[in-house]
Amino acid sequence: MYRTHTCGELRLSDKNKEVTLAGWVQTVRKFGSITFIDLRDRYGITQLLFSENLNEQLEANPPGREFVLQATGIVNERSNKNANIPTGEIEINISKFTILNKSALPPFTIQDDTDGGDDLRMKYRYLDLRRNAVKKNLELRYLVNRSTRNYLHENNFMDIETPFLIKSTPEGARDFVVPSRMNPGQFYALPQSPQTFKQLLMVSGYDRYYQIVKCFRDEDLRADRQPEFTQIDCEMAFVEQEDIISMFEGLVKRIFKDVKGVDYTEAVQHMTWEDAMWTYGNDKPDIRFGMQLCNLKFPAHSFTGKTDISSLINGEFAVFNDAETVVAIAVPGCSDYSRKQTDELTEWVKRPQIGMKGLAFIKCNNDGTYKSSIDKFFTEDKLKAIAGAAAAKPGDLVLIVAGAEERTRKAISALRMEMAERLGLRKADEFKLLWVIDFPLFEYDEEGNRWVARHHPFTAPKPNHIDIMISNDPVIKDASKYLEHPYAGIKANAYDLVLNGNEVGGGSIRIYQRELQEKMFAALGMDETEQQHKFGFLLGAFEYGAPPHGGLAFGFDRLCAIIGGSESIRDFIAFPKNNSGRDVMLDAPSTIDEKQFDELQIKLNMKS
Ligand code: ASP
Repeated sequence: MYRTHTCGELRLSDKNKEVTLAGWVQTVRKFGSITFIDLRDRYGITQLLFSENLNEQLEANPPGREFVLQATGIVNERSNKNANIPTGEIEINISKFTILNKSALPPFTIQDDTDGGDDLRMKYRYLDLRRNAVKKNLELRYLVNRSTRNYLHENNFMDIETPFLIKSTPEGARDFVVPSRMNPGQFYALPQSPQTFKQLLMVSGYDRYYQIVKCFRDEDLRADRQPEFTQIDCEMAFVEQEDIISMFEGLVKRIFKDVKGVDYTEAVQHMTWEDAMWTYGNDKPDIRFGMQLCNLKFPAHSFTGKTDISSLINGEFAVFNDAETVVAIAVPGCSDYSRKQTDELTEWVKRPQIGMKGLAFIKCNNDGTYKSSIDKFFTEDKLKAIAGAAAAKPGDLVLIVAGAEERTRKAISALRMEMAERLGLRKADEFKLLWVIDFPLFEYDEEGNRWVARHHPFTAPKPNHIDIMISNDPVIKDASKYLEHPYAGIKANAYDLVLNGNEVGGGSIRIYQRELQEKMFAALGMDETEQQHKFGFLLGAFEYGAPPHGGLAFGFDRLCAIIGGSESIRDFIAFPKNNSGRDVMLDAPSTIDEKQFDELQIKLNMKS
């Protein structure tokens, strides 16, 4: 037996027991003839005391950092106690020890505050994983996993595996493809998600399915994306949107409880997509704080039934007059921003990622006066009226951006998040859920002059919009008038779960009738042959008693990161890829042997 206890286990109540521990050497400290070694394993750290009688042996075989050590001794009360660790009241008075394995000097210190940079830690990820900070993240991930499995098991869900080698049907993201040796010239694709399989399982009668499953998307990697990532993928038959929403809201609340001890009892707000865009400028708003948008000017076709208040900004200011959209937020308590600070904010919105030409502001001073960067164009009364429309209070700073609708809305929502971050309103330990519903079913694809599915092609329209879809031709005859096409107003039976301004889950009620599915594919520009080639199996299955069904998937890595109070999913993945999609530890992707190319009957034709 290598050990009787772990390094995190022994307490004062174990005093005088003879124990054997095994683990990694964290530190070696010598005081005269006595040596202390902190021994570490997954469970904690225990101090070992080596008295003079072991000196000769220690000198002959000195244990260094990260050596694997086995040591036996008696549990003693420490004279110099360490209140910071659970084993801090005891130490082990060692009688014998064995070095089980040596270690080279690690390239960085295995400590919370390591001296290793990102690249180095990724290269030696197996050492990085020894660090407490990383270990805590993986432990949290495991707890989220276990809590999920328990909840879904208690609710009759079955975990069913689906294949990784499937057919390539790219829509949206690019597929990773895998050549088939046995079928030369043909390729599998890795699944972007098990979407069609889980729907087929519904047809087969497995009415509650789930899987914690890898998905693969060959996308350009933005900061918080990985080419392979994990989803909690779920599907249910005989359900409506409300059933899905309550089941999976229950799951997240259960995870909060199991993992964080948080009782999330409040009802989760439902917000339509249109309201989210109108009030926050994006479809995954962080509603932990206010700063709602004041839409001073907007294109009439974007929002229905909203009051036009553009007369407030009518006047001499060409930037507002010429802009499609003018939108403002009132930032609490920032009216005392200095020139330097407002200049810096202006530069912030001008950065290419935000892309605004400038920023206007109104300082709502505590003495009731208004000072603004657009004083020249607006009287104080007008400034007061604009600030009033933005619900600004004395002491607030109103920030205004103007430009094309999509970009301006993106900019103001980014600015809102930035200001909240600066004001400390985005607290890592405060959780706020939100369901965003009623997404448009389609988006217009200018390049192809056709519709693309906003969620995916299997999403059903709202029940009262099915007729519009069936009875109208999806073809867009006049590109300039696509907004007048009946399909433009169709809403999807789709929903996203948003946590603290991040989309953590999303799904939909599915189409389960062949005719409607064919209509959907046609709208996406697929003729009958292509439909048959790509999705013949699904259309076929819909002929054999497909039940009404729907589901959703959670981004498991992201959910863990947010619950763990981090922005980066990479910290919660044992072996992540870097921003160029590389595993720097394995040095993958890499070239393959000539022989492998021959077997696959593939010849490289590199362009550069
Ligand atoms: N398969 C979808 C996705 O990966 C989720 C769903 O609709 O269930 O986004």
